[in-house]
Amino acid sequence: MLSQRPERNEADAAQTPLSTWFLGPKAEQADLWRELIQYVFDDYIHWRRNYFPHDPVIISRSARRSDAHADGIDRLTSDLDRSLARLKAHFPFYSPRYVAHMLSEQSLPSVLGYFAGMLYNPNNVTEEAAPVTVQLELEVGCWIAEMLGYDPELSWTHICSGGTIANIEALWAARASQFVPFIVKEFAVEHGLDLRVTPANGVEAPIVELDNQALIGFRPDESLVLFKHLARHLVDVRGVAPKEAMREINDHVADSAFNVGKRGFLKIHQALGMQPVIFVSAAAHYSVKKAADILGYGSDSVRAVPVTPQFRMDVECLKDAVLGLADDEYIAAVLAIIGTTEEGAVDPLHDILRVRQQAAMQSNRFFWIHADAAWGGYFASLLRSNAEGARRWEGSLDGLARMHIDEAGAREPLHVEVTVRDADGRPRRDYRSYSCAWDDPEVYKSLLSLRFADSITVDPHKLGYVPYPAGVVSFRSGFVTELLAQRAQYISDIGEGGVNIAERVEIDAVGPYILEGSKPGAAALACWLAHSVVPLSRAGHGQLIRTTAIAAKRLVRHLELHRLLFEDYEAVTGVESSQPFSFVPLMEPDTNIVCFVAVPMAWRGAELVPAGATLETVNALNRGLYSRLSLDPDSAPMAANYVQQFFVSRTEFIDEQYSAESISEVLDSLGVTQDDYRCHGLFVLRSTVMNPLYAEAQQPPSSTDYLAELVQFLHQSTSAVICA
Ligand SMILES: *Cc1c(COP(=O)(O)O)cnc(C)c1O
Repeated sequence: MLSQRPERNEADAAQTPLSTWFLGPKAEQADLWRELIQYVFDDYIHWRRNYFPHDPVIISRSARRSDAHADGIDRLTSDLDRSLARLKAHFPFYSPRYVAHMLSEQSLPSVLGYFAGMLYNPNNVTEEAAPVTVQLELEVGCWIAEMLGYDPELSWTHICSGGTIANIEALWAARASQFVPFIVKEFAVEHGLDLRVTPANGVEAPIVELDNQALIGFRPDESLVLFKHLARHLVDVRGVAPKEAMREINDHVADSAFNVGKRGFLKIHQALGMQPVIFVSAAAHYSVKKAADILGYGSDSVRAVPVTPQFRMDVECLKDAVLGLADDEYIAAVLAIIGTTEEGAVDPLHDILRVRQQAAMQSNRFFWIHADAAWGGYFASLLRSNAEGARRWEGSLDGLARMHIDEAGAREPLHVEVTVRDADGRPRRDYRSYSCAWDDPEVYKSLLSLRFADSITVDPHKLGYVPYPAGVVSFRSGFVTELLAQRAQYISDIGEGGVNIAERVEIDAVGPYILEGSKPGAAALACWLAHSVVPLSRAGHGQLIRTTAIAAKRLVRHLELHRLLFEDYEAVTGVESSQPFSFVPLMEPDTNIVCFVAVPMAWRGAELVPAGATLETVNALNRGLYSRLSLDPDSAPMAANYVQQFFVSRTEFIDEQYSAESISEVLDSLGVTQDDYRCHGLFVLRSTVMNPLYAEAQQPPSSTDYLAELVQFLHQSTSAVICA
């Protein structure tokens, strides 16, 4: 199954301003939205009426005029009004003033797609309940797979309710694949077969001679085709008829002591005498522990790898842990986070792949790599042009990263000019301008390495600007469907010659291979329309991603400039502070999330430096600040959100999660001690910079730099907290 992608002119796509796709903070495009939503509804009405047009009406005009009917409608409208009134207490996620959680605008195509889908109400669990939208889901899967660098013909991608489910499903598939070599060895022993296989170190050997360590460290690529190898062996060497071979293997799988889905983990772990370990950086989303819990690994099996001061996985630590693993432990999976939830940091997937290669060679141990790109997956769209096709792969990763940085134009300097005006509106001084670019080769290399991960999570309901619920899980090999299908169909097609992962599997359904049951076809249509209109390439969705990445960089520059311009901020905001202060960004954003802390400062000559306040003081200051830049959903009065000028979110770093040693650079930049941090932790302000319109807002007629205004508001608020 391969999608027919509409031919699209990249140059045209590039010229469409991003604001075309959104309602706008003042609902500027309300007329267009009304017209198109009406259009979808009218179209739907005609579809109904044209089905057996001679059928009589059931809800007659007179019935619709009856008092009883009218009473019902009155009740509906009055409750509707009440619910609409309650919704006014909603926070303005769409506004450029909302720089808090991972929430923003929804795109017009996604809303139209969802609305249309909702009317038809398909259930994408099966084609019978969704004759159209299952196909659309598979097409979206191909587009997203291609964006990530997978071969859309060999991989398997589908939509689910979100990143949590996607992570669980990916680890579920990893679990299923990990025990295949045991099942096959069991079969070979029972039937006295001389089946030769290739373990992690690449040295071919009879499977019956491999020990548990070698079997559990099999390459996922090999595990996924092992049943086919076995079937081929039975047919070629034993002269068994293909059908008979299939039946024998299926019967064996069903009864195997290593059928983890059927037997559960307890027996298998007892038999093996080994405990699973899942490695993930200390910045992991809590869904990873949930997955370990649900899959029977136990959340204790999740081992946090320390982070670097950039909040990326410290791969040296991973390497030590992997190579130093105890004999009675095995690796169930290693996760790379592409955009951590709190910091937007991108783990160096390319380095994790190198560790895997080293483990294969040194200790005959391979492992499943899952990339949790729920947040950062769409950044891959920056690296794809329609013309190039995602799969072309030439030269070294370094060369490729450089090429992509240049092509994506991210080096293009961005000048941030903070012009502070006096009471008469005149610019006070001509400030130096700062340029910034989104061009870290490590981030590029990691994104370009996604294609080598065994599975990937991406959330369209985050940076895809699609309504909830829409997550995506993508597998490098479509063969996982054969393991996840409740009925074993592994060898339905044995194929000619050698069997390898580069063989196609026909996937024309969704339901049999997924964790969830009923699920909205509307979500598939929303994703389909969104990604068809705005393709997942540099000139399409990449523009959207790029503008947010650059906006995040701008916010960081604005926060840094504050320290240089402190006195001017005072003059402009009209607040005189008893104590100088400033804002310290904790790192350069890898994606588009900015973490920062307000810190009391002291003058050293003409320069402001951290005053060396205790963390109790610093945390209290930031808590106070947070309360002025957020609303408590439980206690905010209805009107509060109309006067709330800006929203940010927050997080707390503690030594148990990020050790003082691992983030010592960050602590130094704040002028706080490691001991103090171990004792009190660090309260951090956090801004997800994902509104698509910051750049356009700076242009006339709006001419508003919301991120600069945010820093001014932070200045006023900090001053107020300090005085209070
Ligand atoms: C958001 C997120 C998840 C969970 O996704 P949901 O869609 O909320 O279930 C998992 N991992 C990361 C890195 C995330 O940012």
